[in-house]
Amino acid sequence: MATCHVVFFPFMAYGHMIPMADMAVLFASRGLRTTIVTTSSSVHRLSKSIQKTINYTHQIALHTIEFKPNEAGLPPVIDNPDQIITNEDLSRLLEAITTLQEPFEQFIEISQPNCIVSDMFFPWTIETAARFNIPRIAFNGTGFFPLCVANAMLLYQPTVSSDSDPFVVPYLPHEIKLTRKQLPQIDSEEFKVFLKVIIQAVEAEAMSYGVIINSFYELEPEYVRHYREVLKRTAWHVGPVSLWSKNTEDKLERGKKSAIDEHQCLKWLDSKEPNSVIYVSFGSLVKVPSSQFYEIAMALEACDENFIWVVRNDQEAMIPDGFEARVKAKGKGLIIKGWAPQVLILDHESVGGFVTHCGWNSVLEGVSCGVAMVAWPVMGEQFYNAKLVTDVLQIGVSIGDVEWSAASMCDGVKRETIERAVATVMGVKEGDAMRMRARELKEKAKTAVEEGGSSYSDLTTFVEDINAFRNVNSPTF
Ligand code: UDP
Repeated sequence: MATCHVVFFPFMAYGHMIPMADMAVLFASRGLRTTIVTTSSSVHRLSKSIQKTINYTHQIALHTIEFKPNEAGLPPVIDNPDQIITNEDLSRLLEAITTLQEPFEQFIEISQPNCIVSDMFFPWTIETAARFNIPRIAFNGTGFFPLCVANAMLLYQPTVSSDSDPFVVPYLPHEIKLTRKQLPQIDSEEFKVFLKVIIQAVEAEAMSYGVIINSFYELEPEYVRHYREVLKRTAWHVGPVSLWSKNTEDKLERGKKSAIDEHQCLKWLDSKEPNSVIYVSFGSLVKVPSSQFYEIAMALEACDENFIWVVRNDQEAMIPDGFEARVKAKGKGLIIKGWAPQVLILDHESVGGFVTHCGWNSVLEGVSCGVAMVAWPVMGEQFYNAKLVTDVLQIGVSIGDVEWSAASMCDGVKRETIERAVATVMGVKEGDAMRMRARELKEKAKTAVEEGGSSYSDLTTFVEDINAFRNVNSPTF
């Protein structure tokens, strides 16, 4: 039988492209042939290290398709999710990407892969897979815990008297409390298209051959079991995929070229005591309103810790006058304007804490590097991820009472609150205990991806399952 060929088709956001590209390299390292399919305008988002890997191995390839929504009579769209400002932009993009079905299917017809790993935002690949009689594997870009919570919330309408009243999410292994304020507000008119795609994604996931998850068993064992045994989903965990390479260069080039020189960054980190630096980043999509940005700046300047703060290029103008010079003069702060080498920073021994928006990749990278976290969720399923960090794993504290918001973080967290949360995770009392638990998970994450580990073994099972499907359905390929 020829080598199994897996096609990866990620949505064009960094939070989806980075882990799927890591997965493609990981699969290739296990002898599978892999192809990443993406639009020509997004291909630069695949990190240099992936592109280099493509050059030296025939096991991994790249195929680009054209994204031309305008030709299909759809309105002009932003093809880059991190440029999205309004909910209307998001709706337009989600409608427009349905035009990718035709070029994607042309590629599948020619290349005849044995399996498609499809992003949740392309629910129509369920039709593609059926047409070519190959398994579709769903990829949601998140973990077992958030998938279980999301599933429970699909069926449950809490009876509470106000949006701030806590309720317990039903049917879960732990008592997880949420408020309505923390839930995606997608049932409003402006989210009509988004809601439609989410429902299609859930349906497509249920009809898929299985789901592949960037997580590891030891991180969330009750939820791996709940997802498989109670929700009856076939799922393989193969993560943390960020651990596929130990190479500094690979860590530097994840997603985008880093805005800071590696040596300058490492020199700064090397000059600090172990666990004395807090890393502050809200991922690739979140926008911080100017008044909230100011409060963060004031809290970081006032706190006792050293910090690295990642500021998006479009927010640079918000840096208060004189702030950068003052924190630089004190040797306590480094501002990275643009893209930060996140995994390289988190993995440095001087970094003890992480203020994060709780994107799944950031949570997993934080866990894989053994840092304690300040959970400051903003949108998507980040509030669920935050609960995993604070209530289940107990490796972080919540920033407090914040509200779900589509693209831009809500305003209102005062500097004193931020300072307190940072002091807690960096402190010797609660902070060290959280770090100890996080470091245990770090070791378990490393073991999971090594030969014989839980994620390594699940990938072996995945390959066996796909080959079994081939034997039954298309023995001639
Ligand atoms: N990332 C990075 N440098 C940055 C911002 C983000 O390397 O300056 C990476 C981060 O390591 C993670 C991904 O981009 O792998 C962001 O994914 P996540 O799920 O955390 O959040 P999103 O950006 O999707 O909200």
